[in-house]
Amino acid sequence: MAAGKKAPRITALVAGNWKMNGLKASRKEVSGLARRLAKAERVGCDVLVCPPATLISLLKEEAKGSKIAIGGQDCHANASGAHTGDISAEMLKDAGAGFVIVGHSERRADHGETDATVRAKAEAAHRAGLVAIVCVGETEQQRDAGETLKVIGGQLAGSLTDAATAKTTVVAYEPVWAIGTGRTPTADDVAKVHAAIRETLVGRFGEEGAAMRILYGGSVKPSNAAELMAVPNVNGALVGGASLKAEDFFGIISAYI
Ligand code: PEP
Repeated sequence: MAAGKKAPRITALVAGNWKMNGLKASRKEVSGLARRLAKAERVGCDVLVCPPATLISLLKEEAKGSKIAIGGQDCHANASGAHTGDISAEMLKDAGAGFVIVGHSERRADHGETDATVRAKAEAAHRAGLVAIVCVGETEQQRDAGETLKVIGGQLAGSLTDAATAKTTVVAYEPVWAIGTGRTPTADDVAKVHAAIRETLVGRFGEEGAAMRILYGGSVKPSNAAELMAVPNVNGALVGGASLKAEDFFGIISAYI
């Protein structure tokens, strides 16, 4: 971005990651959320629910006419082929998804995903017309060693595609030690990391990087959402546990109402 240019207005995104939770009966959480959103006078953010792939079509139908978009939690890099148990970005799109999370720390840890794998998945998302939510974040050990910014810089360099734009890509900063633990970094720490991510994005993508959404994720709940969402360069949240119940998730979205 040229010096002196005004920072772009960014519409925040509050995204729920249901992980391996949810059965057909969970559709009531989406209809409950839709009802709450409809009653709100003005919702100043986009809203996304990423259920297990088995529920994408059903929840897409349930969310019809509401503000809620539906997304996947992972995709294979290929469009089709002999990859038992995997699901492609094209399949997610066909089922009704508009987004896909890639490089979540649980996939990096449980499935050995490298930055190169994550980048290939982000490319697949773009190929299929999905917005890729690319996750980065340091472990507690890396944080204690003072390596947070170095680790995140490396993950961004390796995981983002060269063609990424603000429309096709969202970055989610999720400190691994904050996921599902009830612990969060201080607002100051979040501000430092998000400022560094913004600088990196602007350095690599220029104006597109200035407009890209950077989400914070890790133990966001209704009681801390307003403080975390007010941090400069925090353009929304990626929420795990607290996205499973409409009431809690709406409580987080309320930071933008
Ligand atoms: C996540 O897994 O993306 C996450 C942020 O989880 P939680 O909100 O439960 O910490």
